[in-house]
Amino acid sequence: MTEYKAPTYKGKNGIYEVVIGLEVHCQISSESKLFSTSPTTFTSETNTNVNFVDMAMPGMLPVLNSHCVDMAIKTGLGFHGVPQEISRMARKNYFYPDLPQGYQISQADEPIVKHGHFDIFLSEDEQKRITIERLHIEQDAGKLVHDKSPNSSYIDLNRCGIGLMEIVTNPDMRSAEEAVSFVRELQLLLRKLKTCDGNMEEGSMRVDINVSLRKVGESTLGTRTETKNVNSFKFMTQAIDYEIKRQLKMYDTGEEIAQETRLFNTANGKTKAMRTKENADDYRYFPDPDILTINISSDKIANIKKNLPELPLDKKIRFKKLFGISLKEANLLVSNEEVCNWFEHSINSTDKLDIKDRAKLFIGWLLSDIFGWLNKRELKLCDTGLIPAVYTDLMLRFHSKDLPSRISKTILTDILENGGTVDESIKRLNITIENDDSKLEKIIDKIIISSPNQVAEYKSGKESILGWFIGQAMKETKGQCDPQSLQKIFISQLTKITNE
Ligand code: ADP
Ligand code: MG
Repeated sequence: MTEYKAPTYKGKNGIYEVVIGLEVHCQISSESKLFSTSPTTFTSETNTNVNFVDMAMPGMLPVLNSHCVDMAIKTGLGFHGVPQEISRMARKNYFYPDLPQGYQISQADEPIVKHGHFDIFLSEDEQKRITIERLHIEQDAGKLVHDKSPNSSYIDLNRCGIGLMEIVTNPDMRSAEEAVSFVRELQLLLRKLKTCDGNMEEGSMRVDINVSLRKVGESTLGTRTETKNVNSFKFMTQAIDYEIKRQLKMYDTGEEIAQETRLFNTANGKTKAMRTKENADDYRYFPDPDILTINISSDKIANIKKNLPELPLDKKIRFKKLFGISLKEANLLVSNEEVCNWFEHSINSTDKLDIKDRAKLFIGWLLSDIFGWLNKRELKLCDTGLIPAVYTDLMLRFHSKDLPSRISKTILTDILENGGTVDESIKRLNITIENDDSKLEKIIDKIIISSPNQVAEYKSGKESILGWFIGQAMKETKGQCDPQSLQKIFISQLTKITNE
């Protein structure tokens, strides 16, 4: 087993490690906005998902969307956080043209969920716990459009007021790999809980990455930079690697690192200073007087907790243990809910074979043959006619040598395309299975009788000639039998002759 070791970086004055903390903005799955009834659809025409509240017209009052509150609690419980029975919305004051109110309604020191953690896999059997500081809810801003005209900018307020959850980790990660693993696991969790669709390319999940360096062995944190709004795993890695190099060079030359907010340029993979970091004071946070304190009963929290599904991480651990599969296989299964349910259905629809052997067989064909077929056609499992119980039947008949490998694969492809049962496919394909041993014996005897030279070679001890015999029989039966059973019969028939 290869053990995971976080990377270190050699500078002129010593060896450094990277420290990373993330702030992940996740769009709450909700049909309406956090404080208004406007819809949240991504594809709507510009400025159509907007009402007076979103535009901050004078006298308009926000009304908190209780569904969004529930989603935040559910998410918090999903990472073992502590939902707060009392929390408050606060105004974060700053001016920017995409924010008509002149402040963002967010949460300050009384977030809706405190603490929490979840584990990421570092290698096959090693996990690391990433701790979470808080989850708070807040409203999204609008979007400025700069590329419509050379001398003016436009604004699209569709996104303005959409509910976000901001999940803030402690600075626990020590490599880009760990940071990406964390966001991947978080994405899986959100999708499983259906509290955010996790689509990074649509901006439903955006990551602010805080990066600092410090000498290995030191316990105080170095000065960090925060790279805003990174929206893919690849860009996360690029942004972190770039910051590590840049900061290392500054330590080498003795330059002071400024605590600043940086922008990631997707075109060249570099980060660029945007503004020196505001402190919380700069935002003049204060409790929003328009919104009542959020009170959540312990019963409600308990009820949401009781109804949580099996969490993706728990499922991976269970699958690895129960099925004896690799982390890679577990990741592939658990990262696709449809495939995962389908697979569980299939494997649970029989108790033949030891569970680990069964899983090995079922997953092997699923990941290579079925996925290969689907990927070529850009289809999903649910687009095909293959139902779990039929797959189980096919796998068991293949395993018991009822159906030889090549034929099983032909049947699999046929069912993926046309649906139906294994027997229906056999009929459709006009396959005759030559597995009746007495029939096979006749064919084999015929081959043996008509091949005296090869029989002589076998007699003289050349066992490799068996392959030739099997090939002849495969030709004769048009490949419709199992080479292993053929080999058995050949050996027994040839032994009879050699003993004569
Ligand atoms: P702010 O609210 O100003 O953004 P916080 O102190 O809440 O600042 O931290 C925000 C994020 O930055 C957290 O994810 C935290 O883990 C991370 N962070 C804080 N200090 C450092 C540091 N020195 N190096 C790397 N990450 C850090
Ligand atoms: Mg921040």
